[in-house]
Parts: sequence; structure tokens; C-alpha cells
Amino acid sequence: MASPRAFTFKCSPSLAFSTKTLMDSKPRTLRSPFSCSTSGSPQREARLSDAVEGAITLQEWQGWGTTSPLPAMVTKIVEDLKALEKDIDAPMSFGGSGGKLQGDFKVQEDKKHRKTYQALGDSEQKLQFFAARQIACRLLGSRGYLCQKCWLPLEDCMCSNVTQSTLWHRMRFWLYMHPKDFLRQNNTGKLLWQVFGTEAATLCLFGISEHEEIMWNALKLAGKNNVWCLYPNKNAALKSVEDVFGQEPSPYLECTDTKTNEDGTLNFILIDGTWNNSVSIFSRLKDQATSVWGEADFPCISLATGVSAMHKLRPQPSWDRTCTAGAAIGLLSELQLLPEFSSFGFEKQAEALEDTLVILLEALTTRRVRMGRSITRKVRHMSGIC
Ligand SMILES: [Zn+2]
Repeated sequence: MASPRAFTFKCSPSLAFSTKTLMDSKPRTLRSPFSCSTSGSPQREARLSDAVEGAITLQEWQGWGTTSPLPAMVTKIVEDLKALEKDIDAPMSFGGSGGKLQGDFKVQEDKKHRKTYQALGDSEQKLQFFAARQIACRLLGSRGYLCQKCWLPLEDCMCSNVTQSTLWHRMRFWLYMHPKDFLRQNNTGKLLWQVFGTEAATLCLFGISEHEEIMWNALKLAGKNNVWCLYPNKNAALKSVEDVFGQEPSPYLECTDTKTNEDGTLNFILIDGTWNNSVSIFSRLKDQATSVWGEADFPCISLATGVSAMHKLRPQPSWDRTCTAGAAIGLLSELQLLPEFSSFGFEKQAEALEDTLVILLEALTTRRVRMGRSITRKVRHMSGIC
């Protein structure tokens, strides 16, 4: 568990909004992304007629919030799913939040993918297959159902209410996201690129080699001294924002180091997944760091001021934890407090993100109410937000 001063992913409702402390923390609830929204959603058949043979085009792929090439393994799995649909003459259908196969097709596909999975040689191949399959299913199941920009059902699209902002040009966020969080309505990591754009806040899907390569190329260019992970882990070397950036004069505000070719961008990786999945994501990050830099000790930042950084977050009765967007808001707010960083507009940037978070929470609540879900269910649903 996180040390007492560490940024926490979860806190009790009263603590979250009382501006007292975020110190009491518990691990995030282990829950399936489908567990709160599967029942009651109508079964949907994949709407494939609007695309050639159901293939995912580059344009469609990038529309979901990435500028990367279409992952080869995702393309292959979509082709296999389509081929299976033809073979067994059972329509592919999805339910729940979009990515969950249903019916006869699911039964057949389950057998097939388990066989494929078992035949794979090593754990890395298995991980990549798992990730690509999750993503392929989500892409097909969300087609024509979710808005590509905000990942909400089209009728609940919040895009027109979002105000964009410019992140300080020397800063970059990476949303290192678990495939099970991809296209999840109540994910808050997606808000970062909605507000700051995909160059300033970039999606990196766990286990998708095209994404991980892009992220690691950027991290290598920035240099290991300019990369941090916002992740509470007692086994990681935790430092506060002040420990890292409070020094005057700040070495991070000097010009680009031409000797080492480091580009001077400050990279912040936000781990975006349930508590359990976050452990796997962080462990992969450390493994990759070891192979790139020869150091397993990945620098982590904890948001030591906790609530004081979150003081402006407006109370949401049904929202009982901090979240990925909350971590970014906390970081921006803490940077704003440092004299040397106070002129880069972090307060405005944090505010823009916070406003968008509130808009998402309102959109999700409105949806639940419209669908006639009970308050209890609503609270449970909202507590799954991340
Ligand atoms: Zn939208």
C-alpha cells in the first residue's frame, strides 16, 4: 500500500471533499470494467456495414484518441473475428459497455481464442495477444455506439461542453492505460487529451507494441532524468513534487542540454487501470526501464500535499475517490505552488481539466438517471470511476 504521504487512488467520500487530508487510503476496488454496466444494456450487433468488411481503418483507429499507426495484431484479430463469423454463421454481438462478446458467437470465439493463447510461446506474446484481443473487441463493439472523442454513448456525448487548454510546452503526459480501460465510459484518463490534445497527453495502451514503442522513443529522447511516474508504490522511490522541482534555480528550467541531446521535455506517466492492473502496468514500466536505462528503480512522484492540491475540486456526492484526471490536476496544482514554475499557467490548466472532469461526472449521472437506475446503483457505478 502507498505510504501515508503518497498520492492515493482511493479515499473515503468525506475525506475526498472535506479538504482535510487524502492520507487514509485503501487499494482500489478490484472490479471488472463490465461489472457495473453489463446488465440492463441492450444486446447490440456490431455495426459493420458502414466499413469495408468490418476492418478497422487507420482513420477510425486514430479517431479514438491516438495518432499511432493501426496496431498490426489488432488488425489481425479483427480479421480473425470476421472470418469466424462467416465460418460459424453466427453474428458477432456485443453487450455491456461495448467490448463484451455475447451469444453463440462468444461461445465459439472463447474456444478459439483460448486455443490460440495457449499455443503462444512466451508470456510477452501472450500479453500482447491478450491486449490486442481486448482492444479489437472494444473497437468493434463500440462502433456506432460510443462517441469517438469522449467515449460516451452518442446520445450522452459531452464534447460540445469541453473547453480545450494548452499544456505548458515543456510538459507531456502519458496515459499508460490497461486495455480493459480502453473505451470505458467512466475512464478519466481520456479527459487529458480531450483538454490538452494528443500530443501533450498521449495514450499508450499496455501491451500494444506500436504504442509502447512511441512512448519509449520519446522517453529515451527526453532522458531518464526527465521521466516520472505518478504512482503510489511503497517499493518505488517516492519523491514529492517539491523534492523534485522545488530546487532553486531549477535544473529543469535550463535550456535543452545539447551535450546529451536530451530534449528537455518533462514526461509524466499516469498509470491508468484498476489497482490490480496498475501493478502489472508499473511492473512492465520498470522492466522496460531496466532494459533501456539499466535501472529498475523507476522514479515515482507522490502528490504529497494531497487535498491542498485538490482543494478546488468541487464536491460530487457520488464520487468517492481521486482518479487519473485527479492525479494530473494534483500535479499541475502542486507545480503552480512552486515559485519558479508559477508563471506557466498551471492553475488555468488544472482548472480546465477539473471543469472537464465535472462535465464527465454530470454526463454519467444524467445517463444513469435517464436510464432509471437506482441511486444505490448509481453510487456504486460512480465509485468505479477512474
Ligand atoms: Zn463526444
